[in-house]
Amino acid sequence: MGRRRHETCPMLAGPPPAPLAVALRGLCPRCGARGLFQGLASFASRCRACGLDFAAFNVGDGPAAFLILIVGGVITGLAIALELSASPPFWVHVLLWVPLAAIAVIGSLRVAKGLLLALEYRQSAREGRIAEREG
Ligand SMILES: [Zn+2]
Repeated sequence: MGRRRHETCPMLAGPPPAPLAVALRGLCPRCGARGLFQGLASFASRCRACGLDFAAFNVGDGPAAFLILIVGGVITGLAIALELSASPPFWVHVLLWVPLAAIAVIGSLRVAKGLLLALEYRQSAREGRIAEREG
């Protein structure tokens, strides 16, 4: 597997970061600079270091519905288990599961979106479509 050099871009010293590093640390998939995410789980418009247009990657919120179902299932299971074993008052459930669900959804959404963007970047880069300008 030959690793192609990015001779077109002077910003790049080495190979792009691994998709998992992009997802977990919010790195630019091309140059590895921080700042992929602008909000909790939304991308910045472009990389501040190399100018890669993050908006061009159509990751969307595809993983959101899927992740909410998974997180919802896990949280519900945990809530039922807690209720059956300890039967705490209702406010304990609210205090526990509402923030936990929010954190779990946002966290997993960040990772999923970052991973998708990184994989899409690699795919596009290999096919040489990344330099194409769109509207
Ligand atoms: Zn960059």
